[in-house]
Amino acid sequence: MENTQIKQKSRKRNENDIVKVAVAYGDGIGPEIMDATLRILDAAGANIKPERIDIGEKVYLSGNSAGIEKSAWETINQNKIILKAPITTPQGKGYKSLNVTLRKSLGLFANVRPVSAYAPYVETNFPEMDVVIVRENEEDLYAGIEHQQTQDVVQCLKLITRPGCEKIVRYAFEYAKAYGRKKVTCMVKDNIMKLTDGLFHNVFKEIALEYPEIESNSEIIDIASARLAAHPERYDVVVTSNLYGDIISDIAAEIAGSVGMCGSANIGSNVAMFEAIHGSAPDIAGQKIANPSGLLNAAILMLSHLGKTEIADTIKNAWLKTLEDGYHTADVYQANLSKEKVSTSKFADMVIKNL
Ligand code: NAD
Repeated sequence: MENTQIKQKSRKRNENDIVKVAVAYGDGIGPEIMDATLRILDAAGANIKPERIDIGEKVYLSGNSAGIEKSAWETINQNKIILKAPITTPQGKGYKSLNVTLRKSLGLFANVRPVSAYAPYVETNFPEMDVVIVRENEEDLYAGIEHQQTQDVVQCLKLITRPGCEKIVRYAFEYAKAYGRKKVTCMVKDNIMKLTDGLFHNVFKEIALEYPEIESNSEIIDIASARLAAHPERYDVVVTSNLYGDIISDIAAEIAGSVGMCGSANIGSNVAMFEAIHGSAPDIAGQKIANPSGLLNAAILMLSHLGKTEIADTIKNAWLKTLEDGYHTADVYQANLSKEKVSTSKFADMVIKNL
């Protein structure tokens, strides 16, 4: 069974173990939020030894069309843990997404995205929201099988396999079981894509039978997205395919407060990669106003994955206290709720003070 993260949770590990982690500073706001995150980990005594890898824009521009050097692959394969800031991928042209390459090459089949509200400290219409989106991470329309048929006709193949569905659906149920979650909802569009989404749905129904203690249901993705936006508190764990999961997790994060708040775990059998759910935010890059919380929450997931649960909890509590005290970056700042609008690095300073 491929429930790697869940297995790691119970693994005995000394909290003080020094763990080497491949660290990618990324593009856009990446270096700003990575600096803030690593400073917090260091101050908390997380005993993480960052081994820097260069990936993304700089590497592409140096003429490497993969966006990643051989030496970076070696560091990743030695360390098996990656903390990654977002990277820029051009829209509608240019090089292939390195995010997709990393997830596929490293077999990172499950993309786990917890999204919670932090009301009343961060404004949201949905104070009860606490959903975990489990997104299939290797298949679907993101498998990268795109063709130019003629000058005016292009094609993208949607690839769904039974083993892929089984791995992700089982992971979602095992996650629900391990974390005391009550319900798993499958989101598909099998009224139209009867074979591909139909397979995902059928596998979901089969595997749900193995977990009678966990409630399960399936919804069609379009109305499910609308319901998620209107009543997110009705959802617990959601399992879905790659593209739908990508879209609904940004919606969920934004309605919980900001897309800048959520971290994610990309889990495989041998390697795990932790990153914010958002992108490189070129519109605010260099302004020192980005919210580092998404990457920090990813780092907290990483520490739990490594068995460093006490340090993970300490950092999470210091982060929550910072939000409660009203030190907010621009994306979540509200004049009536916040005490001060802070920069990326001041936010990190306040978290460090609260450790
Ligand atoms: P984005 O997530 O980068 O930004 C969307 C909006 O949210 C922007 O207005 C941005 O300023 C804001 N935002 C995002 N993160 C924030 C933060 N931490 N603090 C404050 N505000 C924040 O999405 P986009 O603009 O569509 O994409 C930009 C680039 O990022 C593209 O090249 C895209 O391919 C890439 N991308 C990378 C990843 C990744 O590396 N995992 C994921 C998504 C997008």
